[in-house]
Amino acid sequence: MKDFNSLQQRYPETENFVGSGGLRGIVHPQVFGNEDQINEKLRYAAEVKYKVEGKTNPLRKLTQLPGVLSHTNHIVSEYIGHEKNGVTPVSLRIFGDENTYQQMKEATFKNPYTLADADKIEDNLLKTIQVYLSGRKNIAKEVMIDNTLKIAMITLSLYASKIFCKRVEGKNIFQIGEEGFACPFYRSFSDNARCVPHFVTAMKALFENKKTLNVNKMPSSMMFYSSALEMTPLEYYQDRVQKLVTREIGAIHLMNSGLDLVGSAVISLRSTSIPSYKLRMRTGGRAFLNEINNNNNNEANNDVGESAARRKVGCSII
Ligand SMILES: Cc1cc2nc3c(=O)[nH]c(=O)nc-3n(C[C@H](O)[C@H](O)[C@H](O)COP(=O)(O)OP(=O)(O)OC[C@H]3O[C@@H](n4cnc5c(N)ncnc54)[C@H](O)[C@@H]3O)c2cc1C
Repeated sequence: MKDFNSLQQRYPETENFVGSGGLRGIVHPQVFGNEDQINEKLRYAAEVKYKVEGKTNPLRKLTQLPGVLSHTNHIVSEYIGHEKNGVTPVSLRIFGDENTYQQMKEATFKNPYTLADADKIEDNLLKTIQVYLSGRKNIAKEVMIDNTLKIAMITLSLYASKIFCKRVEGKNIFQIGEEGFACPFYRSFSDNARCVPHFVTAMKALFENKKTLNVNKMPSSMMFYSSALEMTPLEYYQDRVQKLVTREIGAIHLMNSGLDLVGSAVISLRSTSIPSYKLRMRTGGRAFLNEINNNNNNEANNDVGESAARRKVGCSII
């Protein structure tokens, strides 16, 4: 659908319309006038996805991860998928700055970069990818499947429409899913799923021609009984979704500041030898440290021109 009015003309008897077109839906711009209560870019990141042979595990948070992160230029968070047909997907989210994003924003999920595009990858980011892959290869003992690695740049944004439903010329119009509300850090899907019961309750009341719903007001304490409140189905949906969105905006801002704290902790780790010392005691830790030390020495010895890190990724990691 390109035009909401033409949809209404096609279905003149329809009383309820639901915009669920995700971030590129047409109902939000055409019916809700693109009015947002929040639309904030919180982070820029590179998403590195690849596949490995068999099963693999995340790096251990206390004994392995700090040692690897203390050698990277960025905070990295890893997500290990489920093994299927002998293959496990791995995702690395590497938090970076706006300059790197602008430099590499042509790398998208549809047209990702690969390590063959090393000359287009920002130097510090390339180094982080190289170090992290070396960590996973030596410590998690994973074997990457050739030509599976893809890199895409993403922004992590927090977005919510100003309102989530309204009545226009006798029709009820709802927004559900990311058309109305989207948040980062892998919470969007479940947050939007939590709106579904409220949507169902509102729609049921509308189909039953109920003008109002009796809803329980949350008691201020378990000592008091809850008191009933009357709301129209639209008021009910608006109220419940807004409550969730308000809670989530707080939670996301907290998580975002948490990332800054992790960043500072990682920077302070770099000035101590404790993480590397702990890593040296672990299987694969010594091999990892030797590999990155060799890379660093090679870089220092190599002449300027094409970056040493770039050559290293091309010939050693892959
Ligand atoms: C790479 C990636 C990884 C993600 N990982 C996670 C995760 O791990 N956890 C998590 O919680 N969330 C994750 N998300 C977010 C999650 O995918 C979304 O929250 C969820 O898909 C939103 O669902 P939706 O139905 O609102 O919108 P969408 O899934 O975007 O669906 C909207 C649908 O409407 C269609 N559409 C849009 N406009 C029109 C139109 N005008 N006419 C007809 N059809 C139209 C679209 O083609 C699409 O099929 C991820 C997103 C991406 C891109």
